[in-house]
Amino acid sequence: MTIRRRDFVKYAAAMAVLPRVRPTGGVRVRWSQPDAYDVAVVGAGVFGSWAAWQLQRAGKRVLLIDGYGPANARASSGGESRVIRLGYGRDEVYTRMAQYSLDRWQELSDRAELPILNRIGALFLVGQNGQYGDESLATVRRVGGRIEELSRRELAARYPQIGLDGIVRGQLEPESGALMARRGVLTLVREFMRNGGDYLDETVTAPRGEGRLTEVSTRRGRNLRADWFVFACGPWMPRVFPDIVGRRIRTTRQEVFYFGPDAGDRRFAPPALPVWLDVSNPSAIMYGIPDLESRGFKIASDAHGPPIDPDTADRRVSPAGITEARRYMALRFPALKQAPLVETRVCQYENTSTGDFLIDRHPNLENVWLVGGGSGHGFKHGPAVGDYVARALGGTLGIPEPRFSLWNKQVQEHRAVH
Ligand SMILES: Cc1cc2nc3c(=O)[nH]c(=O)nc-3n(C[C@H](O)[C@H](O)[C@H](O)COP(=O)(O)OP(=O)(O)OC[C@H]3O[C@@H](n4cnc5c(N)ncnc54)[C@H](O)[C@@H]3O)c2cc1C
Repeated sequence: MTIRRRDFVKYAAAMAVLPRVRPTGGVRVRWSQPDAYDVAVVGAGVFGSWAAWQLQRAGKRVLLIDGYGPANARASSGGESRVIRLGYGRDEVYTRMAQYSLDRWQELSDRAELPILNRIGALFLVGQNGQYGDESLATVRRVGGRIEELSRRELAARYPQIGLDGIVRGQLEPESGALMARRGVLTLVREFMRNGGDYLDETVTAPRGEGRLTEVSTRRGRNLRADWFVFACGPWMPRVFPDIVGRRIRTTRQEVFYFGPDAGDRRFAPPALPVWLDVSNPSAIMYGIPDLESRGFKIASDAHGPPIDPDTADRRVSPAGITEARRYMALRFPALKQAPLVETRVCQYENTSTGDFLIDRHPNLENVWLVGGGSGHGFKHGPAVGDYVARALGGTLGIPEPRFSLWNKQVQEHRAVH
């Protein structure tokens, strides 16, 4: 196609009038109301994007800002897929949030071109120490969620591809499953923009002072004004708020492996295999997602890795990690023990001391909210976190959830949420 000079001049003139419109990461930058925002949300990961979307739905004019782009390669939300499940032991607060979120993800998925929520089931493999399983079962039933118990014999009959060494029983949540993570966030941000929301690709510098914040600055020297500010900066929270958050959120390096089943082998793809979580050893939980959209059989350890810098980290997996994944597959998925490694990812958890989220007002800046601490399980809860933020800013929250408060975030780790 040749571009006629007349069209080029027209295009250049349009760009001169709208210098802030350009493509980035599949989402077009738009910044149209510099002085008129009710809320500026910093960070377009799953928490910030759902917060922006829910605030917009509540009638607010919202600006969403991200330095690297929505669900970018460094962000915790930038992966291919994420587990969504209701079972959280006795932590009913997260079971309820996941239940609310399942419905919102389903609605988003229904509106999207490609699926975002895959309700392929989530299977817990429970060992001798069945406390977490028992508590999950009771809690999910109490809130009206669907969950089925499977004896070891039933497990063996239904899932012959799973090695059951050390497994006593199973628990299947048939309506849970897997979310397409990056796709989900990008779809949401596009929808937010179609509905009139603005998005800007800038890095916001740390706000200082006390009282009311009227504006924030960006590294490129832009000042952004709003009545409220929500910082949903994921693993960057300690860097943006070194004094307030600091070591209360620890970022850890997490490795993810995708192995390739043989061509035509459907045993490791849905519907033959659901999402699975091996909770037989509570201090070494392994989990995985079956071969979705032919991307490979995903497997990862939920144990916290070493510290990581989200900006500069080299994201190649370690030989030790590959060896450990293969050792585990030989035990639990023996038919895959020689399967080729087809893809890897290194991501980070942003862990609070207990694994509880941080959703609280800044202690010194009255119109600033801190939203983060996803702690390796936050993705599924994006819709509920966004709803919580929208109600908090709208004055309809009621009593805040104490577990989300800043004051209960310690420096010393004692992980309680799984
Ligand atoms: C390997 C792995 C597996 C996981 N599995 C699951 C799972 O199965 N199920 C589940 O529910 N959860 C899971 N999680 C956890 C979940 O992905 C995270 O809790 C969630 O994505 C955190 O989202 P966030 O929006 O807080 O952070 P992020 O997605 O990191 O978003 C923060 C954003 O803020 C931006 N930003 C930061 N600072 C600034 C600034 N100063 N100015 C502008 N922008 C800024 C960044 O660019 C980034 O885009 C997993 C996490 C990992 C790493």
